[in-house]
Amino acid sequence: MIQRETSARMPGSAPTPAGGPVRTCIGCRKRGLAVELLRVVAVDGDEPGNGARAVTVDAARTLPGRGAWLHPDPECVRAAIRRRAFGRALRITGSPDITAVVDRFPDMGAVDVPRQRKNR
Ligand SMILES: [Zn+2]
Repeated sequence: MIQRETSARMPGSAPTPAGGPVRTCIGCRKRGLAVELLRVVAVDGDEPGNGARAVTVDAARTLPGRGAWLHPDPECVRAAIRRRAFGRALRITGSPDITAVVDRFPDMGAVDVPRQRKNR
């Protein structure tokens, strides 16, 4: 008697590929493993109450709220800034303060960061 083994495993249909969950980088729009991407979240800005938002790097991945994902690559950060992807991905109206993110990339050089105007 011959027993045929019917494989229940369908290659390519796994919910999460080997290596863990996949996220899309808001800079280059390419997908990458979550473990290889940087998570950024929206937090309250320097002046709570005026609705200003800031974007910070969630290194421990424990901050609550909507997050966006980015390759730890200056090119991706630059692309995200250029396309205003931070505000869109994090549902921020206006331009968020992303200096905390840019500060993570000291070798990024000069970048056109839309800083919050504070002279009022
Ligand atoms: Zn990227």
